[in-house]
Amino acid sequence: MTRTPILHPAPELLLDYAAGSLREVQALLVASHLAYCPDCRRQVADFEAFGGVLLEEVPAEPVSVGLLDAVMARLSEAPAPPPTPEPAHPIRSLLPGPLRRAVGAEPEALEWVRIVPGIHVSAWALSVGTASACLLRMGPGSRVPAHKHTDCEMLLVLKGGYSDEHGRYAVGDVAAYEPHTPHHAVGDRDGECLCLLVQDQPLVFTGPLGWLLNRGIRF
Ligand SMILES: [Zn+2]
Repeated sequence: MTRTPILHPAPELLLDYAAGSLREVQALLVASHLAYCPDCRRQVADFEAFGGVLLEEVPAEPVSVGLLDAVMARLSEAPAPPPTPEPAHPIRSLLPGPLRRAVGAEPEALEWVRIVPGIHVSAWALSVGTASACLLRMGPGSRVPAHKHTDCEMLLVLKGGYSDEHGRYAVGDVAAYEPHTPHHAVGDRDGECLCLLVQDQPLVFTGPLGWLLNRGIRF
């Protein structure tokens, strides 16, 4: 049975991002997704707004996986926050602001390395610890070769779209692949697809615990 793609970063990633504890490379992907996604911007704003409330209302002991549920339950009771203004784009760019700043150039100005016909990765890469990011370009209808990866992979679509066995991904969508899960990406036939590709060892989410640790709570 195929699952329906989620298309957004996992809630744990958004929580870590709001708490400022998300790893740099993953934070780049989340920040870039936020430029496209008002729902996740609202979610992050909620997490930020409720950080202080949590410290008052969630007992510090024991810290459990239930904490995230407690956060989500609190948020579901919360009034809707005011709409977040669209981020300003003073410079017209294919890349969302955070990614444009990280890459420092438009995609066409980058050097590209051909993997197989139709599939290129950027020479630009960001590497921090075990995590790395680069841009991935799929020509129209091109297939990313089947590959066995031991790392987690996340893709954020920046231009065009692609499909895999789970569904289709359009601009702004996030796809996440666990280690050892084969997946077969095929670029849309009607144009080039450009993605941000993030790879890392399986994440040990620092989410709920990191949230409290970042605020000075010690256990
Ligand atoms: Zn989203």
